[in-house]
Amino acid sequence: TPFNRLLIVSYRLPFTIHQTPEGLSLKQNAGGLVSAVLSMAERLGQPGAPVASKIHWVGHADPALQSVDPAVFENETFVAHPVFLDEAVNKGFYEGFSNDLLWPLFHYFPSYASFRESDFTCYQQANARFLEEVLALIEPGDLVWIHDFQLMLLPNLVREARPDTRIGYFFHIPFPNYEIIKLLPRAWRQQLIQGVLGADVLGFHTPDYVQHFLQSVSEVLALPIIGNRVVFPDRSAVVRDFPISVDFAKFNNSGQEDAVVAMRHGYLSLLRHPKLIFSVDRLDYTKGITSRLQGFERFLHQHPEWRDTVTFVMTVVPSRDNIPQYQEIKREIEETVGRINGLFGSIGWRPVVYLYSSLTFTELLALYTACDVALITPLRDGMNLVCKEFVASREDGRGVLILSELAGAAQELPDALIINPTDTQEVADAIHKALVMTPREQEGRMRKMRDRVQNYSVFRWSHDFLKAFDEMMNNPLELE
Ligand code: UDP
Repeated sequence: TPFNRLLIVSYRLPFTIHQTPEGLSLKQNAGGLVSAVLSMAERLGQPGAPVASKIHWVGHADPALQSVDPAVFENETFVAHPVFLDEAVNKGFYEGFSNDLLWPLFHYFPSYASFRESDFTCYQQANARFLEEVLALIEPGDLVWIHDFQLMLLPNLVREARPDTRIGYFFHIPFPNYEIIKLLPRAWRQQLIQGVLGADVLGFHTPDYVQHFLQSVSEVLALPIIGNRVVFPDRSAVVRDFPISVDFAKFNNSGQEDAVVAMRHGYLSLLRHPKLIFSVDRLDYTKGITSRLQGFERFLHQHPEWRDTVTFVMTVVPSRDNIPQYQEIKREIEETVGRINGLFGSIGWRPVVYLYSSLTFTELLALYTACDVALITPLRDGMNLVCKEFVASREDGRGVLILSELAGAAQELPDALIINPTDTQEVADAIHKALVMTPREQEGRMRKMRDRVQNYSVFRWSHDFLKAFDEMMNNPLELE
């Protein structure tokens, strides 16, 4: 791909600044997006690929870092460009418009959505601040890849300021059908759809989200669509699905590491009950944590023979718990756990082991590989990476995945036990089915799911996204 440099823009910078004996330094977080981008850097660095050295990453940073020497924001691979937002702007933009309107609305929770004009103003101001940072560093030939629902206006802002730039945009949450988009004030929905269409290539997780987006494009902007392209007088934008994924090899290879093996044995000897069900999510109303507990409760009720035999380890990673709706579901979860343990537990057995904390990578791998069943029941999830990480971790070919049909990942993993999370009877039945499944059936299902995740890893995702630029350049749309 003949582009000069790669500029990534996302709300959050995937780095932390930490203290070393030599002074402050930049540390990369271990997320999938960072691995994918790193692998792109390696690929682009191959002989013949004309790409300049480092990857530039623009993202919001804590204003406390404003006094830090800019040299600290650079390492061998990345140059981080912090965007410092005014505190009030950030609140209206991020906590307000992004997390309190777009997040619930696009996950089909319209009654949780707050429509505040002042938040939209902050959203516009913040997107404009990101633009300033991009313009300060952009050079001819750069490829700008913008991420997610916090920055929907930015692609078109970049397009207007630098019409010749190649721009990509990836949307990491579900894109809902037009009936939901219609709930947004007319001017907002126009600006948001117009905003993302500034990109040359627009990516979503699933074909459904692509269809929903294109439907909104026709309804809101009445633009012509030919195949998977939205047509403007002077250019076109490609809209396609690119299912995001995980670093398969990293999860596949880690299960046998000494630290993971030791921790897994430790857990299994502590639990002392033959069967283990596991789940891990951020605290969020979209994750269906309460319905999952209700399904487990129903299972215990209907299958007394499994009491004293199965433990459900449910980890919830703290998130956004300064927001009332999140405090509310946290309370609901804790009450439900308490009720189940009080009702069914015994002196020697706690049916639900509930943890409200984050896990280290070793702990996460130990649990993925120790459990018999992963129980993943979101009410709505753009993709859901946890289920793919679980599958990738199971080098032993064992274990059963129970997965909500409302997660994007369900489209790719039909060999999971697919359930509707609001149907607690279906969840209870699936738990029973998973616990009695023969090793042979487990292996058969797991093999197909592992093949899929291995073939569509996060590296394929980023590779396909970049390739879409080539395909578009090489196939100009024939306009009559
Ligand atoms: N994860 C984490 N901290 C933890 C446990 C898990 O960061 O303590 C990771 C997990 O490995 C996965 C991600 O959080 O990569 C969750 O991604 P997913 O798409 O499933 O849900 P999201 O939280 O993005 O809605």
